[in-house]
Amino acid sequence: MSKFLILGAGPSGLTFANRLLEKGQDDFIVLERFEEAGGLCRSTDVDGTPFDFGGGHFLDVRRKNVLDFLFRFMPESEWNVFDRDSQIYIHDQFINSPIEANIWQMGIEQQVEYLKAIAVAGCNLGQDMPERFVDWIYWKLGSKVAEDYMLPYNRKMFGKDLNELGTYWLSKLPNVSFEETLISCLEKKAYGSQPAHAKFYYPKEYGYGEVWKRMADNLGDRIIYNEKVRSIDLDTRTVNGKYSADVIINTVPYAEFETIDGMDSEVRTLIDTLKFSSVVTEYHPENMDTHAQWIYYPDESLSYHRILVRHNFCTDSRGYWTETNLTRFKEDNAHPSFVNDYAYPLNTIGKNENMKTILDHLRSKNVYGIGRWGEWQHYNSDVVVELAMNLADSFN
Ligand SMILES: Cc1cc2nc3c(=O)[nH]c(=O)nc-3n(C[C@H](O)[C@H](O)[C@H](O)COP(=O)(O)OP(=O)(O)OC[C@H]3O[C@@H](n4cnc5c(N)ncnc54)[C@H](O)[C@@H]3O)c2cc1C
Repeated sequence: MSKFLILGAGPSGLTFANRLLEKGQDDFIVLERFEEAGGLCRSTDVDGTPFDFGGGHFLDVRRKNVLDFLFRFMPESEWNVFDRDSQIYIHDQFINSPIEANIWQMGIEQQVEYLKAIAVAGCNLGQDMPERFVDWIYWKLGSKVAEDYMLPYNRKMFGKDLNELGTYWLSKLPNVSFEETLISCLEKKAYGSQPAHAKFYYPKEYGYGEVWKRMADNLGDRIIYNEKVRSIDLDTRTVNGKYSADVIINTVPYAEFETIDGMDSEVRTLIDTLKFSSVVTEYHPENMDTHAQWIYYPDESLSYHRILVRHNFCTDSRGYWTETNLTRFKEDNAHPSFVNDYAYPLNTIGKNENMKTILDHLRSKNVYGIGRWGEWQHYNSDVVVELAMNLADSFN
């Protein structure tokens, strides 16, 4: 019996474990289903340079405590810093992202159409906020941004029935103001700020997976690889019938548990409501004629939704990779590809309330869910690192 049993060696599990070590606690085991650690943030080499399995991964600069922690494994001198240059391919041209700040880059006729639609968007007319996802997008952004970009892009990423999704996760999007958009079009310049990753780090010599690999190496044989978690007994805190601990830290998707003993039946049914989407990444060796690090493609006749322009952020590399929802992906033997079964936890209606019930119940049994899957949230890696550090610090 160990003090801690950590399920999953992605950024959440690796951070929690390494933070324990920093505090002098080494009575723990990590179980990982694959033969290597890093989860969605793993990298491999394709065509001589790094390729990030899980899609485009960039380290946001904003959390100093997280950077200090990660730089202990991979010093800042081993990272490049970039200003974000992301684009959208729409109406047969490239414009900068986010769309609402860069309508001025479209042709004049398009600008007029977008402005007309924004002027009568529900939020600008003071109409009540709708509850269904599709209506909400129209209300918030106007019919042009909704129909030409947000709805097709979200359908490509998350699946066809967008009304299954809640709107709570979009509530921080700013209203698209008619006045600001008009001024931006007249002055021919963007307004507002980048939503995320305005500045970010990416390793100079390696893929994004390197820092997590080093964290895993630091744990040595405390990680047991190729051990897929299948069952858990919450009352005895035993996993796969053989690993027991005082405290269990879960970072793996709940769908992975074929058996959960000791869970109230009502809570068990909530686990079945948790949904996710899968993403396939595929490598292409051609360079692209762009400075952008990544480009969004709302056009539904293209299977992929985003392209990562590898040669613009990965030293001495060439080519790009695509991100495609698994349900839209058609395998092409000419290009290496990787399936990420668990890519996006879906923000379905009622999910936050259901997760709160699940997490409270687990905590009452000394089992803690953390990270993208443990909490079923769209967390980026810097966020999960912070949460895992804080949780480890909460144990004495
Ligand atoms: C397309 C895409 C782009 C992203 N871009 C960024 C970005 O630019 N910047 C950023 O910071 N973040 C980004 N993220 C988010 C980032 O991937 C996550 O925040 C991070 O990987 C979460 O870490 P985690 O440990 O919680 O989950 P994961 O990385 O999913 O790790 C979970 C671990 O559990 C293991 N596991 C699963 N099932 C089992 C089982 N049954 N038994 C044992 N082990 C199991 C997995 O193999 C994995 O190692 C992106 C994610 C996606 C999908």
